[in-house]
Formats: sequence, C-alpha cells, structure tokens
Amino acid sequence: MKFQTDGLIIREQNIGENDRLVWVLTRSNGVVKAFARGAKKLDSAKCSATSLLSYSRLTLYKSRENYIVGDAKTLRIFSKLRHDVRKMCLVQYFCEIARHICPREQPADEFLRLFLNSVYLLSENKRGELLVKACFEMRYMCMAGYKPDLLMCRKCGAYSAPLVYFLPREGKLECCNCRRSSDKVAPLSEAALTALRHTVFAEDSKLFSFALSDEGLRMLNNATELYLRCQLDRDFQALNFYKTITNG
Ligand SMILES: [Zn+2]
Repeated sequence: MKFQTDGLIIREQNIGENDRLVWVLTRSNGVVKAFARGAKKLDSAKCSATSLLSYSRLTLYKSRENYIVGDAKTLRIFSKLRHDVRKMCLVQYFCEIARHICPREQPADEFLRLFLNSVYLLSENKRGELLVKACFEMRYMCMAGYKPDLLMCRKCGAYSAPLVYFLPREGKLECCNCRRSSDKVAPLSEAALTALRHTVFAEDSKLFSFALSDEGLRMLNNATELYLRCQLDRDFQALNFYKTITNG
C-alpha cells in the first residue's frame, strides 16, 4: 500500500553507508518506523527530509509491518534549534516521550501539532524551556490517557491551600493539612498548582500562555517529571542528560 503523510522525524539510525532507519511521528499513522534507502547520500532529497527533527512530507510504502520511505520532501527544519545543545537535548527528550506514548497505526494529529508547536516556541525563543517542558509533559500524558485528578484535596476536598502536594503515583492532590509526610510527592505553591491545572485543562490555543516565577516553574516541572516517571515506570536518558547540562 502506498500513501502520503506529513511527519516529524523523531529518531534516525544509520544503516550501512547509505541507508537510514527512521522513526516518524506521522499525522495519519502515529509513530512509524521506516526504512529510507539512500537517505545518507548528501545529494539525495531524502537526506535532509529524513534527518532528526525534519518535518517532512513522505510517501510511504507499507507491507505487513514494514514501512519504506519512497519520496521525501522537507517542509520545515528547525535550524536555529540545531545549534543549541541544551534545547536539542530537551527536544530529544520529547522525542523519547513520543516514541513511548504516541499511538501506532492510528491518526496522531493532536500529538504531532503539540510537538511542532513546542519545537517552534523553543526554536524561536518565544517561551522558556521549563514552561514548554512542563506543558509538553503533562499535555502528552493527558492525550495518551493519563489524566490526573487535580480538582481538590483527595481527603478534605479543599480546592487550594498555601501548599499542596501532588501525588505522582495516584495522580491526585493532598493539601498541607491532610498530608503527614512529603516523601515522593511534589510540593506545589498556589501559583504552581494553578499552572499545573492549566497544563491539563487549558484550551490548546492557550496552553503555553501563562507566566510563573522561577521557583514556581521549578515546582511545576518537578511535578510533571515525577508524574511521567511514576506513571510510565521508566527513566528517560535524554532527560538525565538535559539535567546534567542544566544542573537541574
Ligand atoms: Zn486536605
């Protein structure tokens, strides 16, 4: 079967001297692993279109479980990003998340749009790294079916308190009056809790439109990161590396 779709390259692996294996977050079929013959030849249009973080229009051939890239045309490359080691590292973390939780063999338009938006905002310096990171993490989790319950303290029903704890395993809240120990939970100030709720409930078009202090952003990111780690029960290599280079 032959079809055309748009997608973002989220991983590339060289095969021999000329060929590549790519993982693509496609609009129509979710995450696809495809073989790209001749993609490493520099004079091939496929070379740039199948490079990491190229957003490309691809003609794909599918036989049983295997995909092969026919034609490939670059729609957008985020060239400013490629010169920024920190941001590249953060986006590779996004790639790892996407490979892990995006759908396969079904449409993934929502996932692709959020990814492209996040990369655009980072690349053009329109939003800070920590703000984009927290939005990406929590929104991707919600889209993948891991929506936390952030309405109120699970014990007393309080909507807010000076300090609230987010429980990453349960995806629930406990206020400072109800929580006795703070082990393995993420403390949130009122502003950080408001921001966390925003990452879950805001309309798509307003997702990245909020401001938070550095301390608030740190709390927010601690909560979203812990949530991914606990719910998905895994570590992310690129995140560990990102934290090493940002001393975070
Ligand atoms: Zn309470």
